[in-house]
Amino acid sequence: MKIHLKQVRAQGLHLDGDEDCPIHDLEAEGICCAGPLHYNIEVGIAGRALWARGSLSQPVELRCVSCLENFVHYIQVPAFAVHTELNGPETVDLTPFIREDLLLNLPAHPRCETDGNRVCRAKQQKPVVQDTKRKLDWSALDKLKLKS
Ligand SMILES: [Zn+2]
Repeated sequence: MKIHLKQVRAQGLHLDGDEDCPIHDLEAEGICCAGPLHYNIEVGIAGRALWARGSLSQPVELRCVSCLENFVHYIQVPAFAVHTELNGPETVDLTPFIREDLLLNLPAHPRCETDGNRVCRAKQQKPVVQDTKRKLDWSALDKLKLKS
């Protein structure tokens, strides 16, 4: 996301929109973009520095550590903030800052149920496991009966 300094006038610039997902290169690590980055930020110049603040939202597909199923998670950065010195170029690229904040807000141990949209299948399977165990117990009893 390149900011042209000429666009940023004294009153600042409001940017609200979508942009291509900036973390495409993480697919090898199991983090796949599931849509565009949504941003809503204010940009301004103060002295010799550029500042930006606002919010970011990036849908990604992650793999649940419990059930190993892929699910879509929205990385939310509610307080994106940048303050960077201006030294020369007419444009400032905010993409490295956005990437950094998205990565900082990635869950270290993603679980599909964190967003509250679904119940993790690893949990759903627990009663099933208990049922088979009970059946096994009965069959053990049956064998005992046969013996006696
Ligand atoms: Zn899960």
